[in-house]
Amino acid sequence: MSSSDYSGIAEHSGPLHSFLEYSTSLIFPVLFVLNLQWAGSRLYEQDLLWLIVLAIPLGVLGGDLVSGVVHWAADTYCSVDTPVVGPSLVKPFRMHHVYPRDICTHNLVETVGNVCILAFPLLSGCLYLLWLIPDSGLLAFVVICVALTSAATVATNQFHKWAHQERVSTFARWLQRTRLVLEPRHHKLHHTEPFNMHYCITNGWLNPLLNKVNFFRRLEATLAFVGIETAKAKEKKRMLRRVSNSS
Ligand SMILES: [Zn+2]
Ligand SMILES: [Zn+2]
Repeated sequence: MSSSDYSGIAEHSGPLHSFLEYSTSLIFPVLFVLNLQWAGSRLYEQDLLWLIVLAIPLGVLGGDLVSGVVHWAADTYCSVDTPVVGPSLVKPFRMHHVYPRDICTHNLVETVGNVCILAFPLLSGCLYLLWLIPDSGLLAFVVICVALTSAATVATNQFHKWAHQERVSTFARWLQRTRLVLEPRHHKLHHTEPFNMHYCITNGWLNPLLNKVNFFRRLEATLAFVGIETAKAKEKKRMLRRVSNSS
């Protein structure tokens, strides 16, 4: 381990952000259980409880996909100065590439709090829909998938943190060895040149498939086609303009 893996800077959230991180981290498990319990009992009433067997892998894969897409977007688009997403999303991911072990200095709430803030309206909305549409087995199944996906996404940064820690608990190491969570050597591939693959960081199950089909490069080409350019493409254009203006 190199000491340069740490910035040595202790970053603190503002009071409002900190309040939201702590309060939603406490509320998240309650909302998660309420969604599972309510939707699960509805599936049971309709003899559809077996669908949970399908919902578990879908939820885990959903979490891995969300982690990959959010991570790719933060690595590839906007800048640390972009309003709202710049300081809250882009900066932590960009800083992580420079100081990969800063994440190991975060406590549990600092690690999972940001995702809990986003999961709060989502899981509240699911409860509202269950109340609004009381007879739908399909809705109950979708709600269980969404709840499991959000739990996997909330846990992602903890798994990511474990992947960078020098020492983890025996249980965490077992989870890593069995590939149920992100394995450190697998994640190291993202921190290795060309730094543009292996974005999924829940357990990384989707990385081989997404790499094989060139998923993120195709997505970038599609977005460029509708005028949304990567930060690198914008920077390149700026440089070319500067060179042509000075000549
Ligand atoms: Zn990254
Ligand atoms: Zn990392």
